Amino acid sequence: GKDGKWLFTLHNASVMPFLQYADNRELRKKIWMAYQNRGNNGNKIDNRTNVVHMASLRSEKARLLGYASHAHYVLEERMAKTPENVYNLLDQLWKPALEKAKAEEADIKKMMVADGIKDEVQPYDWRYYTEKIRKERYSLDEQEIKPYFSLENVRNGIFEVTKNLYGLQFKELKDVPKYHEDVTVWEVSEKDGRHVGLLYMDFFPRASKRGGAWMTSYRKEKMTEGKRVAPIISIVCNFSKPTAGNPALLTFDETTTFFHEFGHALHGLLSNVTYESLSGTSVPTDFVELPSQIMENWAAEPEVLKMYAKHYKTGEVIPDALIQKLQESATFDQGFATVEYLAASYLDLNYHSLTGALTQNIVPFEEAAMKKIGLPSSIIPRYRSTYYTHIFSGGYSAGYYSYIWSGVLDTDAFDAFKQKSLFDAATAKSFRINILEKGGTADADVMYRTFRGAGPSIQPLLRKRGLEAIK
Ligand SMILES: [Zn+2]
Repeated sequence: GKDGKWLFTLHNASVMPFLQYADNRELRKKIWMAYQNRGNNGNKIDNRTNVVHMASLRSEKARLLGYASHAHYVLEERMAKTPENVYNLLDQLWKPALEKAKAEEADIKKMMVADGIKDEVQPYDWRYYTEKIRKERYSLDEQEIKPYFSLENVRNGIFEVTKNLYGLQFKELKDVPKYHEDVTVWEVSEKDGRHVGLLYMDFFPRASKRGGAWMTSYRKEKMTEGKRVAPIISIVCNFSKPTAGNPALLTFDETTTFFHEFGHALHGLLSNVTYESLSGTSVPTDFVELPSQIMENWAAEPEVLKMYAKHYKTGEVIPDALIQKLQESATFDQGFATVEYLAASYLDLNYHSLTGALTQNIVPFEEAAMKKIGLPSSIIPRYRSTYYTHIFSGGYSAGYYSYIWSGVLDTDAFDAFKQKSLFDAATAKSFRINILEKGGTADADVMYRTFRGAGPSIQPLLRKRGLEAIK
């Protein structure tokens, strides 16, 4: 209601664009301070004592059950097994990520000096200057990219990748019940025509639909009296709708999301187990993103892009120059992104490795945790304690590391293909039999080693994020 003025809130979708684009450094500082102090203002919605209580009670519960800490209790059933294994992975990634972030900070500092700012780089400078550097170096224009990623071409590309890997065929069914006219239904079958399952795809936003993207099962695969009950799987996204005369055109992020959810769908569709409770995606949370994230790797391979990224009007294959831009921009800012993520993972684990009650105020507790890993003052953990909903209300306690754990798995697994060829038949068969078909019927670590012949290496992840060159 104020003429010529705008209102910004502390929601991510409001704060982040402000931090990226607002030229006024004082205002960036103001919104940033408010953002990172959410739940920490000494008023009636201050979360500090809640965090102390929760961390203490979780520790007590774990000890009553005979575990050293909440993390020991949670991780026993995960692929990681112990807090030591998680710390070990985080420690290996920390140094290269920090080195890259420091190099990124030096670039930012240079730009600030050019802008006449003598101050050190502050957290409210990162996103602003990163955006400027991104523009200067990569000038990636979304409008230039999108015509090559029509929904139909991307879908056909995914079908093609899946056919090359697992021999699967997809046929649209027009005469099955569905809950909305936007939904399409596909019969999935083996190369020899045997029925695998049904796949529902629901792509466009509507008023009653939740945001985001996910995969779900209407009927999970299982065996009944020696017969396979075929799964009915669904993937749901929120892509921009086609407009008059134009098909739905995806950004490369959305394209990646489609490949990702399709990977979860394959996990559900190819499941080949006896019990529904162990079927498909019923696996530990630090393993469940392997089948989905590995698919994202194919999406970005030049050889695969040339198969599906074709201009929706002219049919022209995506030019090499655009592919190169996409690839270069993929490693940009990964030092910062990895560091703020790892810092939050350490913080999570520190709270949940307590072997007794938390007796300290959480502000110094968090400070000490960040000092221990040497987090630069220009970066804060992706979530600070008082608004770390993932771990205090979102079911990710002692589990925030899972994203990068899965990241190590998917890049290492994809490397098994790359060492031979993108669609190597023997590797695909092994991935299908040892991982996609198995659901939760075996130990995740054993499944992985059976597929790969060894435990995962972190090198492919470092390479993918551009963290490898710096030693
Ligand atoms: Zn996922």
